[in-house]
Amino acid sequence: MRRLRGAAASPGIASGPSVHLVIAPRPAGRRIAPAEALAELERFHAAVTVTSEALEELAARVSADGHPDEGAIFRAQAAMARDPALADLVETQIRDGGDAIAGLGAAAADLAGQLRGLGDELLSARAADVEDVAGRMIDVIARSGPPPTLDRPSIVVADDLPPSLTASLPRERLLGIALETGSPTAHAAILARAYGIPAVVGIAGLLATLDSAPGEEVQIIIDGDAGEVVLDPDESTAAWLRERTSAAALAADRALAEATLAAITRDGVEVTLLANIGTPAESERAVALGAKGVGLFRTEFLFIERSTPPSEVEQVRAYRSVVEAFAPHPVTIRLLDVGGDKPIPYLPIPPEANPFLGVRALRLAPDRPDLFVTQLRAAMRAAAPRDGGPLGPVKVMAPMIADATDTDVLLALADRARTELDQEGVPHGPVILGIMLEIPSAILVGDSYFGRLGFASLGTNDLLQYTIAVDRGNSQLARYQDSLHPAVLRLVHEAVERAGRAGIELSVCGEMAGDPPAALALVGLGIRQLSMAAPSLAAVRRAIRGSDHATLEREALAALDQPSAGAVRERFVALLPAG
Ligand code: PEP
Ligand code: MG
Repeated sequence: MRRLRGAAASPGIASGPSVHLVIAPRPAGRRIAPAEALAELERFHAAVTVTSEALEELAARVSADGHPDEGAIFRAQAAMARDPALADLVETQIRDGGDAIAGLGAAAADLAGQLRGLGDELLSARAADVEDVAGRMIDVIARSGPPPTLDRPSIVVADDLPPSLTASLPRERLLGIALETGSPTAHAAILARAYGIPAVVGIAGLLATLDSAPGEEVQIIIDGDAGEVVLDPDESTAAWLRERTSAAALAADRALAEATLAAITRDGVEVTLLANIGTPAESERAVALGAKGVGLFRTEFLFIERSTPPSEVEQVRAYRSVVEAFAPHPVTIRLLDVGGDKPIPYLPIPPEANPFLGVRALRLAPDRPDLFVTQLRAAMRAAAPRDGGPLGPVKVMAPMIADATDTDVLLALADRARTELDQEGVPHGPVILGIMLEIPSAILVGDSYFGRLGFASLGTNDLLQYTIAVDRGNSQLARYQDSLHPAVLRLVHEAVERAGRAGIELSVCGEMAGDPPAALALVGLGIRQLSMAAPSLAAVRRAIRGSDHATLEREALAALDQPSAGAVRERFVALLPAG
């Protein structure tokens, strides 16, 4: 038996035999003799037929499965595969001495370049699709066979999975996904969440461990909540799995049954529970679990793993779908939070010695204001009023704010976005501007700028790392990774006082908010809005409903003087209601 850790990408537990899907790298193509041209033209036209039919089928299946938006993506791609403009370009390339693969690669680059050059949002968005479709045709030609499939219920194990392959695997036989690479914001993870298939990604050593038993069928358990996989489980682990599965089913039923209850303490203090989401597909589950809005919509999923930034139209679509799903509750869209720690091909940031202290998030604005203005424009357009009933407030939040000057950058970018939309006559609505408090300085000098904002939200994941100088991703420093550190609590206390003086809303959207003992400490310190991953909502609601605010307040103030996070945790764990 081997246990491996990765990142939780789609919740739930699954077990079954593993199937290792090997995805071949795309070939570059070759030069051909004139006599080969006819055969290459035939290969290309055959690929058009196979690819467009496969995409149509995929679109129909995905739509019929209750995901019409995802289905429409593949239907549009089928039309592109049949586009005569693409065929003309490929045929010219083949006549000029390239094979079908080289012709497709060059034609797609040419067509995509032309589309981008037109400076039109919609056409630019189509450029990325043209490249994707051409890639699929190259796959068809290079493999000369159908994509891998599953002949029985299995857990798919792979290095990474392209989205089209993820969507084309038979749902009824796809029990779970375990990937050596990838991240929870990758497209494969997004689709897995939309389909409710448990997934764990970024599991270092997964393929090497599987290959150590060649030819043997390896049973595998995926824990998509904990981000763990177990290869070849022994009997006691299998028994644990059975227990866990029935306990999880009971907990899921209870969470849904309690979703409509208010998170109110026994002595009448109400706390608003919101969801943290990373993709629009997570909205439905969060609403069902009783989230009263989105306190943190991480938008990085739109920006990573692609060669160009997402278009404004693509962003409007994504933001609007979340705003509509949560209406009439608020949705907080966070501006792009990437940098040297998460490189993006179209954002060439030189290597940095300390990326967490480097050019990340809004610090990219001086070089790339376009990225943030486009994002703000998209959020404003997503807030445009609609006929079918009121939408909730749309909030936009900037991460990595250090002080008043950074706040000015945000306000200036928002002004520019609004002025542009006004001048262009593009329909849009109001957005409430706020910032994340995740750098201690931003709290300490909060008095100097809070009054210019609508709200602030404590990002306690980064606040902990910047307060006690501990890299949040370094597993060797796990003993420091507890946000109940008295230094963090003192900063939260300061933030509550300063936000109160400025009259702005204050929430917490770091993981701390979804950790029941920590959530109680935050309520004791005066926080009235907690935003967390949807699966944590039920446990936090239960903890709040079983507590007295007067006790939480007394204990939270006492916690400020405790010597360690461990000591604080002990006190709040003792306050958790039984059951
Ligand atoms: C945080 O830092 O607490 C936070 C919520 O943002 P992220 O985890 O995305 O950095
Ligand atoms: Mg952060």
